[in-house]
Amino acid sequence: VIEIRDLHKSYGALEVLKGVDIVAPAGNVVSLIGSSGSGKSTLLRCANLLEDSQQGDILFEGEAVKWKGSGLNRRPADHAQMIRIRTNLSMVFQQFNLWAHMTILQNVMEAPLTVLRRDRAEVEASARKYLDKVGIGDKCDVFPAQLSGGQQQRAAIARALCMEPKALLFDEPTSALDPELEQEVVKVIKDLAAEGRTMIIVTHDMRLAADVSDHVVFLHQGKIEEEGAPAELFGSPKTDRLQGFLSATV
Ligand code: ATP
Ligand code: MG
Repeated sequence: VIEIRDLHKSYGALEVLKGVDIVAPAGNVVSLIGSSGSGKSTLLRCANLLEDSQQGDILFEGEAVKWKGSGLNRRPADHAQMIRIRTNLSMVFQQFNLWAHMTILQNVMEAPLTVLRRDRAEVEASARKYLDKVGIGDKCDVFPAQLSGGQQQRAAIARALCMEPKALLFDEPTSALDPELEQEVVKVIKDLAAEGRTMIIVTHDMRLAADVSDHVVFLHQGKIEEEGAPAELFGSPKTDRLQGFLSATV
């Protein structure tokens, strides 16, 4: 579904991504691990065109993003294509980012109504279905502040699902949660993996990465240092950097 080829991204003089290749075929889960500052969030934000990149290609279902300009002036050329790709790669953030003044149901319905202009009754039925799926079907009419962190994150996942995206991008979905609440969210992510959803997951949770991934990528200072199937990568890390990273995180 998503292919990233030789992606380069700088913030001014700071080169954050130095030629990264990532492929997430349909139905696969790719986890992205690496130290703080290695460029994981930047990569996700570039992938769904929230952030511009200066070089390299991004393909969605085989269709390459069209660019205009080059280098620091490079931008997506086709607005309709950009919106289509962004809505098909739904993002879930560490800090949930729910709208405080809307109920949980309204939060989940908002983007399908305003961005996709879908029928209200249909969107409401689908929002209720996804809230049930993540186990908070009884929380439709409360506001985010009345939910635990784990429940808020599950609401954010229902919101992403309600866009009917082709893939989900998670940026440290469990990092803001207490360990016991983390497991509620991990369970939802595992269920999504089991039903064959295409996902790219940035995580500090090596157990989650080992359990759900088809492929794991270890990013170091904006480059892929090592990658492979989870059993290999976690079982017999080859590079000193990955060995060091894993012994520091376990
Ligand atoms: P973490 O694990 O802490 O979330 P990360 O791997 O997600 O780290 P990024 O957030 O992608 O790292 O940041 C990579 C580098 O880019 C860091 O050096 C960061 O300071 C820099 N950076 C990120 N966003 C910006 C920005 N908007 N402007 C300038 N520099 C930025
Ligand atoms: Mg990050």
